[in-house]
Order: sequence, then C-alpha cells, then structure tokens
Amino acid sequence: MSGTYLGMPAFPRAAATATRDTRLRANLTHATHTIRDKRAKAVAELDDWAQLRAAGAAVKDRTLRRLDHYLEQLEAAVTAAGGQVHWALDADEANRIVTRLVRETGESEVVKVKSMATQEIGLNEALAGAGIRAYETDLAELIVQLGHDLPSHILVPAIHRNRSEIRDIFRREMASWGRPAPEGLGDSPAELAEAARLHLREKFLSAKVGISGANFMVAETGTLVVVESEGNGRMCLTLPETLISVVGIEKVVPSWQDLEIFLQLLPRSSTAERMNPYTSTWTGTTDGDGPQTFHLVLLDNGRTDTLADTVGRQALRCIRCSACLNVCPVYERAGGHAYGSPYPGPIGAILTPQLRGLAGPLEESLPYASSLCGACYEVCPVAIDIPEVLVHLRERVVQGGPVTLGGTRTVLQPAKGHAAERAAMRAVGWAFDHPGALRAGMRLAARTRRLHPRRLPGPGRAWSRTRDVPEVPAESFRDWWQRTRGTSSGRGTSSESGTSSGPGTSSGPGTTSGPDTSSERRGDVK
Ligand code: SF4
Repeated sequence: MSGTYLGMPAFPRAAATATRDTRLRANLTHATHTIRDKRAKAVAELDDWAQLRAAGAAVKDRTLRRLDHYLEQLEAAVTAAGGQVHWALDADEANRIVTRLVRETGESEVVKVKSMATQEIGLNEALAGAGIRAYETDLAELIVQLGHDLPSHILVPAIHRNRSEIRDIFRREMASWGRPAPEGLGDSPAELAEAARLHLREKFLSAKVGISGANFMVAETGTLVVVESEGNGRMCLTLPETLISVVGIEKVVPSWQDLEIFLQLLPRSSTAERMNPYTSTWTGTTDGDGPQTFHLVLLDNGRTDTLADTVGRQALRCIRCSACLNVCPVYERAGGHAYGSPYPGPIGAILTPQLRGLAGPLEESLPYASSLCGACYEVCPVAIDIPEVLVHLRERVVQGGPVTLGGTRTVLQPAKGHAAERAAMRAVGWAFDHPGALRAGMRLAARTRRLHPRRLPGPGRAWSRTRDVPEVPAESFRDWWQRTRGTSSGRGTSSESGTSSGPGTSSGPGTTSGPDTSSERRGDVK
C-alpha cells in the first residue's frame, strides 16, 4: 500500500495534535452525529436487516474463499465484452499501468470518480509526476483537492471542513484549476453546490479520459457497478472516450442476485438513503454508446496477504459504507488524518496495517487506535468483528508471529517498543507458576503499600499518565480467605487450608472474629 499519507507520525502523536483542534472536533461531532442518527432510522425501517447483514457477510466470505475462481471468471467476461484487464500487484505497478494507458490516449487531463482504491495507491500524485492532471469531480473530493488537503472520511472526505472554510477554498483556489468561483460566493449549501457544478461542467464536457473505481464487480457478466449520490460519477463514466477503472480484487461478487443484497445494505448504512440516487453499471464497451475503450486494473496491493490471515481477512468484506467511522468515539475526537491512510476510523485501524504489513511505527500503532467498545461491529452491515481483528493485530504487534508479506509466509518480530510490556507479562507468568513467591510478593506489596508511587516510573510512565495506579489492599484475598475460612471447617480448597498462620488466623470452628464468619453465613442461608 502506498499513497499520499506516507510519513505520517504514529497514531498517538497525530491524535494528540488533532484532539487539541477545537474547530475540527466541533465539525466532526456535528457531522458524525447527524449521519449516525439518520442511518439508525433508515436501518430500523427494515425488519430483515439482521438477515440481510448475515447474507452480506456470507456472500463475501464465500467469494473470498474462491477469490481466484471469481476473478478469472470476471476477467473472461470483461474481455468477452470488449474490455481489457490488467493485474497490478502493488501501488507502483497500478500507477505505472494507469499512467501508460493515459499516455497512450495522448491526453494530459483526466476526470475522476471518487475512488478509495486510487487514493490508496496515490494515483493523482503519480499522474502529476508524469505531467497528467487529474480532476476530482465528487464535491467533497473537489474540496479536498482545491484545499491541498487529504481526505479524512471514507464517504465525506471533507468532513473536517465547515461551510465557511469551503467557501474560502473555492474563492481562493478554483481559478487556478479552471472556472473561478462566482463573484460574491456565499456559504449556503446551494451556492457552494452551484459553484462546484459550474466549475466541473467544463471538465466533464472536455475530458477524453475518465478514471473510476467500483463498488462492486459482478463476475458472471463482467459488470462494474458505481453507486453515488451526486451524478458526477455517471458523467465521468459515460462522457469520456476512454474509461480506466482501478478496483481492489475483493470487490468482486459472484452474481447479480448477490449484488441485490449489497444494493440494500450500502445506501442505508452509508448515506441513510433507501436507495442511492445513481447506480451506474457497465459491461465492457458498447458501439456508439459510452466510452469506446475500457480498461480494468485489478489491484492486489496487500489484499492476498490479508486473505491469508484467517482472523484478519474479514476486513476484506468491507463495502466502505463508513458507518463504523460515524459511531467511533476515537474517530470523533481524533479525526481521519490521524490514521495516516485513506482508510480512517475503525476499518482503517484494521485494514491499513494488514495491507501495508505491521512494519512501521504508524502501522503498529493503529490496532491501538480504539477503545474496543464494539460500536463499530454493531453497525457494520457485513458484520466485520473489528474488535476481534484489533485484538488479533495487537497480539501480532506485541508477540510477533506468522504473517504473509508479499505472498511469502514469514515470522514477524515483536515490536521493540513493547519490550517492557513483554518483560512484565513474563514476570507475571512466572509468579503465577510459583504460588509461594506470589504469596510472598503479595504480602510484601500489602505491607509496603503506603510507599507505592501514584505514578509509575520508567516505561510505565506513559501508562500511568492517564490512569490511576490501583491501590494495593491491606490484605490479599488469599490471606483473607485463610484467616476467615482456612483452618476449621475443611471447606478451604487450597493446600493452605487448615494450616493457616499469621495475624487474624481463625482459632477454631465458629470462633473467628469479624462479621463474615462461616456460622453467620450459614445463618444467612436459613
Ligand atoms: S467496516 Fe463495516 S461499517 Fe466500516 S466501512 Fe466497512 S462495511 Fe462499513
């Protein structure tokens, strides 16, 4: 996985900066709460939502199990319909293929449909390096592009901007990308949309090459599907002479019958719409109608590595609805840029480290970018158990273990930063294996408890900066049990029963001091 976010700091540092940005937090809170409330109402309208969700997960799992078969079926169908299929192992290869295809048309400008896959590979930057200018046509993507910014949400890439910021960006930047913003542009949604419409219309009508992703690919007919709300996608998909679609290999579904499930799950879960306003489908090329040349670039870029992980592969079910972002308390406070990839929020926390590999500080930090509250799993329309994958990836970060990288099975070394945690866990494991040492340690801890610091020194400092170190009780549970139950009745189960010693030890049946004696407990039962 490549892209425009490389070089971002690890999540904790990026999030620490973002959470201090009060305007960002206000924008995010307002937007995510609005979307999540609408979505909840739209989903509640369907009595069979749970069954649809299970069906969606089952179709995705079935397809992933036989991904090679369905991809070959798709390739054959696209080719038979007049399209050309290209296979890209990674971001560099995909960018090289697309750049070559655009160059072959002789054009130096392209229009783009909003696409996560092209963001993932950093296509715009690669094209710019080859002297080709890519114009984003989705309204939110346009705002991001004009603002020299990065997307921060899957569905609403400019969610971190409010209306007055967008007006300022349009006024300042539109002229250098084409038609300038209208004189006296205000910040009402209608004015901003009209300004974008006028600006983009020139691009739609002049561009000879369109670049898109796809929400789904139907293997049985070789059909690609884009769902959208604005209609800009349909313009890009139908007006240019050449269409190049870059699509992740996990987007294939076997049949139109399977597609029906996702066309119900996706709009309600993403935009809270019963149906998405525009659904565009195309199969190869058609004489005299639409693009006359069609290229499909099938993108791996870490997906087969992800598929090799039996726990983590469920991330490939994702249909990019963004519902998990809108309910995530961590995303709401940290914003999307802190995740360091086009995939922010809970899905980004499990997808990015798997696509890129757990090799760098950012990727290692992402599985920890969650409170594990489980809200993301509750809303996911394809039932991805994100908390399960987060815990699984944390285990890989701390302990290392087998992973697949670049198609090769290898053993990941534990992350260096977790040496103290591993040492602590080993010490705890040893103590639990040696009860005598554990007992002595607990007694020593109880007797010295007034001397214990409230903040940990050394490597534990970061942990205790935001937490209180628990107080050690005056008496351990073992000692309490031994003192109150241990010697007389024979009900104690440990070898220490009946041999207790030390202060407060029971002196005989029914003679222990304190309120919670065995005889009193028996009396309670009566
Ligand atoms: S993980 Fe689930 S909820 Fe999140 S974007 Fe993907 S499909 Fe939607």
